[in-house]
Amino acid sequence: MNYLITGGAGFIGSHLAEALLADGHRVMVIDNLSTGSIRNIAHLRGHDRFAYVIDTMMNAPLLAELVDEADAVFHLAAAVGVCLIVESPVHTIETNIRCTELLLEIAEKKKKKVLVASTSEVYGKSTSVPFREDGDLVMGATTRGRWSYACSKAIDEFLAIAYWRERRLPTVVVRLFNTVGPRQTGQYGMVIPRFVQQALDGKPITVFGDGTQSRCFTHVADTVRALTGIMDVDSSVGQVFNVGSSDEITILDLAHRIRELTDSSSEIVFVPYAVAYEENFEDMQRRVPSTEKIQQAIGWRPQIGLDALLASVIQYHRDVRSDGRASTADMAPRPALIHAGRPWNGGRAGAHPPRASAELTPDVPR
Ligand code: UDP
Repeated sequence: MNYLITGGAGFIGSHLAEALLADGHRVMVIDNLSTGSIRNIAHLRGHDRFAYVIDTMMNAPLLAELVDEADAVFHLAAAVGVCLIVESPVHTIETNIRCTELLLEIAEKKKKKVLVASTSEVYGKSTSVPFREDGDLVMGATTRGRWSYACSKAIDEFLAIAYWRERRLPTVVVRLFNTVGPRQTGQYGMVIPRFVQQALDGKPITVFGDGTQSRCFTHVADTVRALTGIMDVDSSVGQVFNVGSSDEITILDLAHRIRELTDSSSEIVFVPYAVAYEENFEDMQRRVPSTEKIQQAIGWRPQIGLDALLASVIQYHRDVRSDGRASTADMAPRPALIHAGRPWNGGRAGAHPPRASAELTPDVPR
């Protein structure tokens, strides 16, 4: 199969690309490197079934060309990370809604299956844990920036489902619950890479709020298995699936666990939400998925527990340090759009994907 991954140079996208290549598929990635990094896919460049384009998805003729070449699309490109969302709400809303709209419009013409990656954030302030896919979404006020992310992704979900119901474009939505693993950056707020880096640096581990809020962390390898499994089954079309672990931990306990596993003497400090994010910031207190639906659909269950997950992230950061490389977590934000790409067939039917993916790409470590 030929797969297109939007946002394929991101943390999850790059792991997905690896898994698809390992299964013998061809993979094309489009990414504007706004939150992704060329380093995430650097090791895939030499692969003869892999090609990538660095460009915005809003380049409609290019996107149409890429969708044309693909048998199915994993749509992972999105503005993510609570810090980014709070700081750049216009960018968040526009990126998330426009890119999805355009992709679905293009995919509809060719009837290519699209998997839309959504987020557990859409459950908002709901307290009905574990969250079920058919449960209510409880959003906060529009004056509180955080909820713009949840609303923009909820619109993406509505759109995806509407394209199936009204236009028979095969779509499926997955709601990801705190996916974590090697290559995830802490730059946009994600807690585990931040705590691990703080612990390894001997710097204070910053617990936001009182640390009683909890999360269920899922290893990216488990998430990728869920994405490919859901893509593979026809019965998933028009459906929404939670993808997450039910191994719940409070953020304060997480800080202690990471300090212990890294053998760190970092102190644990509490930072008010108003200082960490913005005045009137509202957090989600608990985020626990019901995974009954995906278990029934494809027999999926997470296989990697929290300690193994943390060990893999700690090892990644230790390796990066001993290699003397900057981790992706240390990199400065990229400019939003870099127009340097073209599709793998260069617009000519039957042409081979250009190795030029690398040549077309500014190869500058960021
Ligand atoms: N968090 C924290 N310290 C940090 C970064 C995040 O205490 O340095 C908290 C954050 O406020 C939230 C939890 O950790 O309660 C998970 O945050 P993340 O941004 O990783 O995911 P999300 O809030 O989207 O679940």
